[in-house]
Amino acid sequence: MIVFDQVQKSYQVGGEAVPALHPTSMTIETGEVFGIVGHSGAGKSTLVRLINRLEPSTGGRILIDDEDITHYSHAELRAFRRKVGMIFQHFNLLSSKTVADNIAFPMKLAGIYSATQIRERVDELLARVSLVDQANKYPSQLSGGQKQRVGIARALACRPTILLCDEATSALDPQTTQSVLKLLGDINRELGLTIVLITHEMDVVRRVCDRVAVMDAGRVVEMGPVSDVFLHP
Ligand code: ADP
Ligand code: ADP
Repeated sequence: MIVFDQVQKSYQVGGEAVPALHPTSMTIETGEVFGIVGHSGAGKSTLVRLINRLEPSTGGRILIDDEDITHYSHAELRAFRRKVGMIFQHFNLLSSKTVADNIAFPMKLAGIYSATQIRERVDELLARVSLVDQANKYPSQLSGGQKQRVGIARALACRPTILLCDEATSALDPQTTQSVLKLLGDINRELGLTIVLITHEMDVVRRVCDRVAVMDAGRVVEMGPVSDVFLHP
């Protein structure tokens, strides 16, 4: 469970604190797919980056599974970040590494897995995202959908309990979007992962999200089950 308790975030811009997230309280339940929508600049990425502490908050408390992450030490943060995977609009793969090495990379960085553990986990993930035959290819040899499936496998490498998706299907065509959404849905159901998903595509929200928050100018202005927030005739 992810709990925001009066969380706020300001960025320092030219010596001035500019608010990007006004004090916000909300709860994301374990195992749900939670969508975040809103115009560009509304604060969606900021909110998501607060969850894995890519950005430190400037006020309030963030509790993840009852632990306050806002005061974590460096060592605690390292361990915590393994519990939170992230995928990106432009995939952010390492172009000089093969598919298998991209997936293995976070496990190697973590420094706590044996070579055997890494090899077995990579094989398992290649199968899960249907890229067994692409294991030794480089990102430039893959289609967009395949690249994002590598991104998903990499995000899952250290067995996270939360998966953050920042416009993960925005660079993909509609058909590929469907296959990536299906994969995310399978992962949510089969692994019980909590998924927090930023999108500007209403179809994505309707298809996979349990609940949704609408953000505007640094505030959550609406939140609830998708069918309540987006009434359609
Ligand atoms: P969204 O993801 O909804 O487009 P962001 O969270 O990226 O919104 O941005 C929210 C606000 O915070 C915007 O006004 C943006 O310009 C500002 N902002 C985001 N990141 C930074 C940063 N690193 N430094 C200063 N301002 C930032
Ligand atoms: P692209 O079209 O960009 O190459 P896709 O994501 O559409 O990538 O997938 C390529 C192939 O892999 C398609 O034949 C598709 O049916 C198959 N595929 C995609 N996702 C899965 C999945 N989760 N399980 C099995 N096969 C999949």
